[in-house]
Amino acid sequence: MKPDVAIVTGAARGIGASIGARLAEAGWRVVGFDRAWGVSQTTGLVGRETLDVADYEAASKAVARVEDAIGPVGILVNNAGITRDAMAHKMDPGDFRAVLDVNLIGPFHLCRAVLPAMRGRSFGRIVNISSMNALRGQVGQANYAASKAGLIALTKSIALENATRHITANCIAPGFIETDMTDRMPHEIREAQVELIPVGRIGMPVDVANAVVFLVSEDATFVTGQVISVNGGQLMP
Ligand code: NAP
Repeated sequence: MKPDVAIVTGAARGIGASIGARLAEAGWRVVGFDRAWGVSQTTGLVGRETLDVADYEAASKAVARVEDAIGPVGILVNNAGITRDAMAHKMDPGDFRAVLDVNLIGPFHLCRAVLPAMRGRSFGRIVNISSMNALRGQVGQANYAASKAGLIALTKSIALENATRHITANCIAPGFIETDMTDRMPHEIREAQVELIPVGRIGMPVDVANAVVFLVSEDATFVTGQVISVNGGQLMP
């Protein structure tokens, strides 16, 4: 059976919901993983799992359920992420660890769960959602920037380990995107951030989703271990 199932974490809202919808439009059978679904309006899903990506046992059982009940997983998009912002000299060590648990160790858990079968089938597409702030650091985000920079190194290592198995692994580094995560910022800071974007607008979740659709497509089989910036020109590393 063709591995036409895509798992997207953090799919209940924001960027993850848009990635799920765009992958479904592109013909993939999409299963969303999220901590809670609430009044999620994510469209196009063939299945949903409620789980915390920081829990390895739960993540590996959820992947096994998808493989058994829905079909072989061809795509993994590690999108779930959190912030716990504070200046490093005031940051609660528990908040540093919590961000690493979700943003870095969570993606490892999902990669660990999907890779054996992907390697066995010699096909896979892994896309990890990092951040512009992984490439430059950010005031108040030592934990978040470190987690997202670690995610880039994780991705490059997985790309190298699996290149001969026709499995690609890439990161997207979004800039400032309109979601609940950025809506929670104080209004003045949010407006000041938008003024820094050369294209003159905030990014939309679909801007990131469109890059995911490219990376999993047949047009991107020679693209692996890369970081694709989707930031309106705000940072050109
Ligand atoms: P969001 O609006 O906060 O949505 C994140 C989703 O992930 C939520 O549904 C959330 O569930 C879920 N989630 C959080 N922790 C989880 C866990 N432990 N297990 C499973 N699901 C979990 O965030 P977003 O703005 O769409 O961001 C999506 C990704 O893009 C994140 O990795 C973020 O770091 C990255 N990113 C965003 C921006 C931006 O400007 N928005 C920029 C760069 C990178 P809950 O509702 O339970 O929290």
